[in-house]
Formats: sequence, C-alpha cells, structure tokens
Amino acid sequence: TKHFPVRRKVRDLFTRKHDAVHAVDDVHLTLRRGKVVALVGESGSGKSTVARVLAQLYPRTGGDIQLHGESTRVKAGRQFRGYASRVQMIFQDPFASLNPVHTVRYHLARALRIHHNDGGDLEAALAELLTRVSLTPPERYLDKFPHELSGGQRQRVAIARALGARPEALLADEPVSMLDVSIRLGVLNLLRDLKERLNLAILYITHDIASARYFADETLVMYAGRMVEGGDSESVTQTPAHPYTRLLIDSAPDPDRLTGDTDPLEEDRGNGEPPSLIHPPTGCRFHPRCPAVMPRCSTDLPVRLEIGDKPGHWAACWLYDTAGAEK
Ligand code: SF4
Ligand code: MG
Repeated sequence: TKHFPVRRKVRDLFTRKHDAVHAVDDVHLTLRRGKVVALVGESGSGKSTVARVLAQLYPRTGGDIQLHGESTRVKAGRQFRGYASRVQMIFQDPFASLNPVHTVRYHLARALRIHHNDGGDLEAALAELLTRVSLTPPERYLDKFPHELSGGQRQRVAIARALGARPEALLADEPVSMLDVSIRLGVLNLLRDLKERLNLAILYITHDIASARYFADETLVMYAGRMVEGGDSESVTQTPAHPYTRLLIDSAPDPDRLTGDTDPLEEDRGNGEPPSLIHPPTGCRFHPRCPAVMPRCSTDLPVRLEIGDKPGHWAACWLYDTAGAEK
C-alpha cells in the first residue's frame, strides 16, 4: 500500500538507532556527588547516548555506568520513577526544551508537582528555584513566556526546572554550546556553584575539550562509541596520551577559549570522517585516522593502559603497551 514504504523507513531508522546505541560499548563511568565528569567527543561519538542511557531513556549498553557507586541498571515502575527524579537532564537548546505556550511559572510548578506532591508553599518554592539560578527578583520572571527571555535566561529556567526534581545528578548535554559566547562562562559557573551548594554530581557533555579542563574534575574522551582516554582533567588536557585526544587539542584554535560553536574537526575533516557507529572500524576504531597507526591496530581492540606516573590516567591505545612492544 501507499503507507508501507514510509512505515518501513521508520522501522529502518529505529533499527539503525538501536544499532548505534549498541555500538556505544564498554562505557565505564562513575558520577559522584560534588564532582563534574566531562565526556568529550565529536558529534556522532555516542556521548549523548551515554547520557540517555544514564537517564534510562535508552537501554543500557556494555560497560557499567554508576551513580555514587551504585550501578544504574534497568529499573521499572516505582523504582524507575524514583530513579528518574534523581537524575535530571539539561539539553543543548533551552528553547526547544521549554514549551513556548507556557510560562516560567507553569514549567517550574509542573516539575515541583510531578516530583514532589508535598503540598508545601508553591510560591515560596518557585521563588527559591529562580533565586537558585540567579533570576531575581523571581516575580520579574515567573509570568514570562520562553520567547520573552534571552537564551541564557531560558537555559537558567531549564536548570531551575531540573532542580525542581531535587536531583542528585545533572546530565548536561552541551548546555552552553548554543548560547552566546559572552554568557557561556556565567552558565558554567552557575552549574559549578549549584554542584557545590547542593552537592550534585554533574555529567558535562561537550565537544570542547578546553571547557572540560576549566569545568570538570575528571575528563573522559570518547571516539566512535568507545572511551579512549580518561583521568584527572588537568592530566588529560595537559598531557594527552591518546592520538585522538591530541588531535582534539591541536585542532582547537585557542586552548584558553571557552566556546563550542564550532567544532574544528567537523569543519575541516583533513584527517577523515568520524566513522559510522553502525559499522565501526575493526581493532582500534580510530585506526583509519590515526597518524601513529601500527599493523596490530587494525585487528586488535586496544585495552586500557595506565599512562606514566599519573594515577588514574589511562588510554586505550597500543602505543602504551610496553610489554607488547618488547615481544
Ligand atoms: Fe592509533 Fe593504534 Fe593507538 Fe589506535 S591503538 S590510537 S590506531 S596507535
Ligand atoms: Mg549530541
């Protein structure tokens, strides 16, 4: 019939998405209260998928993702609702995540009611949420619609709404990359301040490794669905070990900038395309683009190896397999 090809297309898309989720593999990630973990990679690396797995919008993949030492395995029913309020997402585009026909008051009141039917003073709770994100005085913002706010104010409302659930963790997916450069730092500083005052765990997803150094305690670098390097942010960004991390840092126009509107690797793919997550390359997934590629790289999947004398700093790259090199 007329509708069949359309339906098949939808099914193919779903299958492709499903396969791509499964290609996000061997992800080990632990969020802890009071700490920011940055997940850095190009678009299409699977970093947003990791956040969605953590928020349980997608089924979990290989590896283990933990929240304060507790595995985030599939939860259902009442257990899922409890988990969902513990973990809140903040998206890249605050305009798309707020409903244009509703006011700030509606968005925040709804978050408070969904997550906590405690019948407290709603007006006081609304004012407290707006004050937390520095939208003061609250009465100036409560009855505004999203289009009456600036991009930065909208993202602050989205953050306030997430706080309405009284979460333990915020999953922030490129939270400043669509904002004006001049206000990005303010929003990151707000998140850092909230992390400290509310003892939140934050997963900060970004393609901008310079901002990871500024904002995160720990940095994990992702390539084609796998984590390729990780450790203390200072160590990973100052002494990067994996050839992909080095490429990311070298291609950033200015290491001290705090941006995110351009992705140098996406603008100039002099080093080739990032691979498809559906049919990732064999062995090391970076081998078709790697300037240091060796024969074994196209067949053997690299294991995580400790780097130098920095405890906790690792890379999944055969360059650091000193035992193997002597064989
Ligand atoms: Fe390059 Fe080989 Fe290391 Fe992969 S394992 S990053 S291909 S040197
Ligand atoms: Mg994304």
